[in-house]
Amino acid sequence: MDKTDRRLGMQQAISRRDFINGVAAATASGLVPGTAFANLPVTASAASAGNYPPLQSGLRGSHRGSFEVAHQLMWAGRQDWGRIDTADAEVYDLVVVGAGISGLASAHTFKKQYPGARVLILDNHDDFGGHAKRNEFAIKGKTVIGYGGAQALENPGEYSAFSKQILSDIGVDTSRFNTAYDREFFRRHRLCGATFFAESRFGTNHLVRYPLMDYTWFVPFAQPPLSTKEAVQQMPLGQSARRELLMLLEIKGDHLTEVPAAEQQDYLSRISYRDFLERHLGVHDKELLSVLQGLTCDEAVSIEVVPALNIMVYLGLPGLNATALAGINATREPYIYHFPDGNASIARLLVRKMIPRVAPGSTMDDIVLAPFDYSRLDERGSDVRIRLNSTVVRAVHNGDPQSAKDVSITYVRGEQAFKVTARSCVMAGYNAMIPRICPELPEKQKAALALAVKCPILSITHMLSNKAGIARVQFD
Ligand SMILES: Cc1cc2nc3c(=O)[nH]c(=O)nc-3n(C[C@H](O)[C@H](O)[C@H](O)COP(=O)(O)OP(=O)(O)OC[C@H]3O[C@@H](n4cnc5c(N)ncnc54)[C@H](O)[C@@H]3O)c2cc1C
Repeated sequence: MDKTDRRLGMQQAISRRDFINGVAAATASGLVPGTAFANLPVTASAASAGNYPPLQSGLRGSHRGSFEVAHQLMWAGRQDWGRIDTADAEVYDLVVVGAGISGLASAHTFKKQYPGARVLILDNHDDFGGHAKRNEFAIKGKTVIGYGGAQALENPGEYSAFSKQILSDIGVDTSRFNTAYDREFFRRHRLCGATFFAESRFGTNHLVRYPLMDYTWFVPFAQPPLSTKEAVQQMPLGQSARRELLMLLEIKGDHLTEVPAAEQQDYLSRISYRDFLERHLGVHDKELLSVLQGLTCDEAVSIEVVPALNIMVYLGLPGLNATALAGINATREPYIYHFPDGNASIARLLVRKMIPRVAPGSTMDDIVLAPFDYSRLDERGSDVRIRLNSTVVRAVHNGDPQSAKDVSITYVRGEQAFKVTARSCVMAGYNAMIPRICPELPEKQKAALALAVKCPILSITHMLSNKAGIARVQFD
């Protein structure tokens, strides 16, 4: 621990005011009774503690063991997987490739329509949920729950009737969040946003207690203790960058006068953030543009590419107040539809609905602490089975695709390839892989699917002792 760590309070004991605050920062402990968010005994969550993926730490999204086979298929064009064993003697009614929310929801929908159906869900990870992952941390004998990817149901009032029905099927009543989600948490604890300037880029490590991104619609932070002017003065930037930044943070009124107000949303979705800043607000300072570049986080692309609308409305980068869209976020549904483990609870509810033996309980409240027994996910005799650590490499019809009665699905688990047969198959994995997995697809569809590109995003969940009064730090 060095001087900077000490200044940030990292040497201090972890207290009840500890917090977890990931990519877009929200703390929702309301669905966990009272103090349980921080005080749950470690073992309560881990029924099959020996194999309980949410307790794993390190690189989890694409962990070692989950991507190697896919890379061999995609990058080296590997087709020969050696001896292929038959995994199960039975013919499944449905095999789903991918145990993310799409795959789980497909399986659930199929089971609803055909209650007696036998379904197998395959996923290359050691946990189900896809991007909707749960993290549990065992700290000083307590468990703290967080999310490892997708956080919240955004604007669920606008979901399709089909999606709303699925939520209802698994017992999610979104009005429960009105009281379950603690909207005042940050303000009550006087936790504000802050921006960290790293020595590697700015010559000094500097924390300024002022957020450069307006996250109010996501998380209502406490007011920063600094005025905009004071905050900009404290930033380790040159005069020109400070001058333009202050203008950008304080500007008000519609400066996009050449575009009618009703067309601005469309216009801003078609120009990049950088173009908007340069063309319409006269921001040219290279240092400032590089600071803003560092804040694009989960857009995963640079300010030259990301649409101005996305980054200002969704991520809160400055500039929106200089358009007719100022205040647009106040019209959105609040960002409260958030389980403590994010949308992992949705995945867990779907799994529990289909395989009740995996976890006790029946409500959206009890799913938060329900102990999940991973050893029951893939039991012989179960109607629905979820087989993890299994990468699908091929799915082809047995015979002429127009008339075949079933399909063969090949997956690789460890070093061994297996084959299963199914009457139908849903591909709910990565689009770009589908042309390699399904060679029978029409060329046009293959070409369209191959256009999909995945951008890596590294989302890190830390548990820090928080004596600094800061809710969220943006790292530049
Ligand atoms: C950091 C982050 C934050 C997000 N936040 C939100 C949010 O707050 N709210 C929201 O609604 N959405 C959010 N999203 C979007 C989120 O990805 C989707 O909402 C949703 O979870 C996607 O589900 P999916 O099942 O379609 O895909 P995925 O979650 O990607 O699931 C697909 C699964 O299929 C597996 N798979 C792929 N290929 C194969 C194969 N060949 N064989 C076997 N398995 C395979 C994958 O490994 C994965 O487990 C976020 C995404 C990320 C990355």
